[in-house]
Amino acid sequence: MPHVITQSCCNDASCTAVCPVDCIHPTMDEPRYATAESLYIDPDACIDCGACVEHCPVDAIVADDRLSPDQQRFQQINASYFTAYPTVARSTPVSPVPSAENLSGIRIGVVGTGPAGMYTALELLNHRGVDIELYDRSVTPYGLLRTGVAPDHPDTKAMANLFDPALRKRNVSLHLGVAVGSDVSTDELLAHHSAVVFATGAATSRRTNIPGSELAGVHSATRFVGWYNGGVDEASASFDLSGQRVVIIGNGNVAIDVARILLSDPAHLARTDITDHALEALRSSSIREVVLLGRRGPAQASYTTPEFLALLNRSDFNVVIDPDEAAPDDLSRHQIVNDPVAAFKVQLAQEVAGRRPSGAARRLVFRYLTSPVRYSGTGAVAAVHVSRNTLASGHDGVVQAISGPEAEVIDTSLVLEAIGYRGTEVPGLPFDPHRGVIPNRNGRVLSDAEGDPVPGAYVVGWSKRGPLGVIGSNKRCARETVSCLLDDIGAGVVTAAPERAELVALLARRRPDAVGYDGWSRIDSAERSAGDRTGRPRLKLTDVDELRRAAAAL
Ligand SMILES: Cc1cc2nc3c(=O)[nH]c(=O)nc-3n(C[C@H](O)[C@H](O)[C@H](O)COP(=O)(O)OP(=O)(O)OC[C@H]3O[C@@H](n4cnc5c(N)ncnc54)[C@H](O)[C@@H]3O)c2cc1C
Ligand code: SF4
Ligand code: SF4
Repeated sequence: MPHVITQSCCNDASCTAVCPVDCIHPTMDEPRYATAESLYIDPDACIDCGACVEHCPVDAIVADDRLSPDQQRFQQINASYFTAYPTVARSTPVSPVPSAENLSGIRIGVVGTGPAGMYTALELLNHRGVDIELYDRSVTPYGLLRTGVAPDHPDTKAMANLFDPALRKRNVSLHLGVAVGSDVSTDELLAHHSAVVFATGAATSRRTNIPGSELAGVHSATRFVGWYNGGVDEASASFDLSGQRVVIIGNGNVAIDVARILLSDPAHLARTDITDHALEALRSSSIREVVLLGRRGPAQASYTTPEFLALLNRSDFNVVIDPDEAAPDDLSRHQIVNDPVAAFKVQLAQEVAGRRPSGAARRLVFRYLTSPVRYSGTGAVAAVHVSRNTLASGHDGVVQAISGPEAEVIDTSLVLEAIGYRGTEVPGLPFDPHRGVIPNRNGRVLSDAEGDPVPGAYVVGWSKRGPLGVIGSNKRCARETVSCLLDDIGAGVVTAAPERAELVALLARRRPDAVGYDGWSRIDSAERSAGDRTGRPRLKLTDVDELRRAAAAL
């Protein structure tokens, strides 16, 4: 009866260290970890001890005799990893866990309280004597864990329980509602800390900028996600849900999240922490079909297998794929021979293409080998003009889509572009506009891509490596950055910080209304109480003034 890793795995690898027979892979130290969709348990090696279960922060590990019908396929997914990579041995750690050190007198600022900032704080807390100041421009902590991760993924949202104890530590101070680069400058922050770790994420969207992008009804998926997920900047946004069809550009996990929210039975969403304004709008939505446009084939689809799999047994909508588009071309057939994940994606797409649809009134249509060429309409979008693509192998061996001429027109009144995220510049800090990241070497900020380290400045998470990887990927990333920071402390490059009183006075002058841990606790309680009254985990406040009032309430 081996155990099995299922859908909500976020790759934080907490389970690998506790497995007595080393049968969970890839570990953080293995090269395949960087691109793994999730971790997997070797069914032939697992001794069923259950030790990993309680260490999983998202309840992703299940004994195989307790798998629900929807989870059965994960047995095959776990096993096929070890069929493809049968002798996976632990290699030398890329970023070994540093031994505990005495960091008395060292004060580290961490800018951003998303997963990367929080993992950084947790790594630092392994050492004695360090003081940590956590800053976020938002009045609520946890970055995309609160405003990105979909409301119907409560297991993943529960990662906040892992981070919350760090905020309560005596040597950790929280400063919410403080924007670094405007409320306090980067130089001021560097002057008042031994070092500052920037964990500012990648908050803006990449856009197609094709003709017609300026039409009403063409939005970034980022804006839509913020709207349903409690982003204060998107609370007043509105989306026209009166048409029958939405077209989403892109087929990554964010595109899938957005499609699922658009098509879900509102009664199901009403048990989540989706915002009230989004729930009301979705209750009166006329949307019957969401079309996802992917530029390559199923073998190269951007979504992860677990997220795709979770769509297949829904009673509120059907997943539809054209059999011709599910069939792999020659290049894909060659690719899947050595790539079990790509092979499984093709297998699943073909299974879906061959299925009879259920009686559900709504449809989620996956299109492959298609790219938008332009949007048309008078004032507002009315159609997406689409090209048919072929695949070719690029110089780097990556399979690329080659756009053909315009081949098809899809009528729609709402387009959501979900083609990726992008970091933004923190004033006063170097920025690589091409990659949308803060230039760095293993987490040490550089003056430019090939330049020298900027004294005292470090970076972690999506602002370090771009918008890649899931929540747990930031743990390894934080370990690498903190390891550089510790080396620099050991080498005397990073030294004790000046008196804290000066920092406190500066912050009090610039943001007297900053929200600390007590304020956040009051917001949290207010949201949970409001949720309790309506049978939901929480009712998110989405207005900054309202949030500040809740933080100040006694
Ligand atoms: C829509 C969406 C859904 C996702 N769903 C999942 C999922 O289900 N499971 C999963 O494992 N992963 C998911 N991810 C990925 C996951 O959210 C990321 O891996 C993770 O959030 C990246 O962490 P980060 O800390 O680098 O960035 P963020 O989470 O973006 O945090 C950055 C923080 O920095 C703050 N900040 C930025 N600039 C400043 C400044 N100048 N001053 C002060 N503060 C600043 C921001 O307010 C924010 O709080 C999802 C991502 C998206 C976009
Ligand atoms: S149940 Fe025990 S042996 Fe199996 S993967 Fe978990 S820790 Fe390892
Ligand atoms: S979420 Fe973490 S602990 Fe849970 S299965 Fe995935 S890697 Fe292991």
